[in-house]
Amino acid sequence: MNYRSTRGAPAVSLDTALVRGIADDGGLFLPVGLPQFTGDDFDRAESLQDVASVLLQPLFIGSSLADDLQQIIDETFAFPISVSELQARESNCGVLELFHGPTAAFKDVGARFLAACLSRLEGDTENPLTILVATSGDTGGAVAAAFDGRSGMRVAVLYPDGRVSDRQAHQLTCWSDNVLSLAVNGSFDDCQRMVKAAMADPALTKKHRFSSANSINIGRLLPQSIYYAFTALSHWRRNGRKASFIVPTGNLGNAFACYLARGMGLPIGEIVMATNANRIIVDFLDGEEWAPRSSVPTLATAMDVGNPSNMERLRAHGGEAASLAGQVRGVSVSDEEISAEICRSFEEFGVACCPHTATAIHVWRNFDKTERLEKDWILVATAHAAKFEQIVEPLIGKSIDIPDELAQILSRERRFTNIDATVTALENALAIGFSENAAA
Ligand SMILES: *Cc1c(COP(=O)(O)O)cnc(C)c1O
Repeated sequence: MNYRSTRGAPAVSLDTALVRGIADDGGLFLPVGLPQFTGDDFDRAESLQDVASVLLQPLFIGSSLADDLQQIIDETFAFPISVSELQARESNCGVLELFHGPTAAFKDVGARFLAACLSRLEGDTENPLTILVATSGDTGGAVAAAFDGRSGMRVAVLYPDGRVSDRQAHQLTCWSDNVLSLAVNGSFDDCQRMVKAAMADPALTKKHRFSSANSINIGRLLPQSIYYAFTALSHWRRNGRKASFIVPTGNLGNAFACYLARGMGLPIGEIVMATNANRIIVDFLDGEEWAPRSSVPTLATAMDVGNPSNMERLRAHGGEAASLAGQVRGVSVSDEEISAEICRSFEEFGVACCPHTATAIHVWRNFDKTERLEKDWILVATAHAAKFEQIVEPLIGKSIDIPDELAQILSRERRFTNIDATVTALENALAIGFSENAAA
């Protein structure tokens, strides 16, 4: 299987797409022709891992990783992914819990899969690959956790000092010697600018072998299709009906993975994207022209995206607004509605949900009765509420139990370096940080 650019550059192998992250023409990679599956193909696939093997096998044909695929899958899905039920008065619905990984959010899946692939392709103990990641909170933790302790690989995480939550800061700064945590005296935009500038500097790039673990990397997207495939198949086997999903959406990686799973023939009905007040996707499907916006801050911070990158993939695959509007839906949820939903879900279902998950629950709740009953809805829970306790606890008036994985991370010692928001400061920190770490 080869991978084409959304902008038309010649297709490349999976290995190249994984290592480059972005195509030469600035486009995003997509498989050339999606494999098509029927139910029979999954006859012997019982577990999440089994489904992953069937689904990924054709996507890995011709890759040097093909023989390692089972191992890569096992390393990625080493934590449970399960569906729980919301017991509502009129109709029940499922909740796909994607928050049982090491950093308690769904980004663990993509980050771990990409780490497993890249370390096999590019790991080099003599001359390690350095993953540079700028983060506003969630991504950096998942990437650091995924690459932690992998030999031949290093990670430098840049985050805006004082602008991430305490628990997020902990997840960014408690790792082994191959992870360098940099608290930047500046904003997230500064962090991003520094990473871009460093990667555009030929001398620096050569010295450190920079690479990125962006959410646009196809290696983060593909494994996310697996939990949709597995959940939809399990539902189909039990009920003989298609599952419809409501997906909290920011950069559109998670929802697009669901779209890919449906495109490969899995029994998925509707796909509804729940956004926060950053409603560019909703307006686009309504017929407005696509014009990138600045993001507005909301309670669901990980979805504060004004220019969702994966829309380029969705449009390349599904056509323009009129055509897309027949395939997916979008609904925007305000901060007031998020707060109210967190309270109401707790009262009604006894479930503490994170602000991102609350957008999906709210969209489902606002459907009219026919719509709720007609389809089998599965809401996607993208993070554990304990990660956003500063928002959720005051609303529900109760402290949230910390899941074991998160507790383990929070018990580790933190280690980080403060730096100014300049490329020179980053350059120095890399030179000192990794040699010190290596000597430690
Ligand atoms: C990243 C993130 C999202 C948004 O996912 P996209 O793939 O960017 O649409 C939603 N919820 C949580 C908790 C996240 O970390």
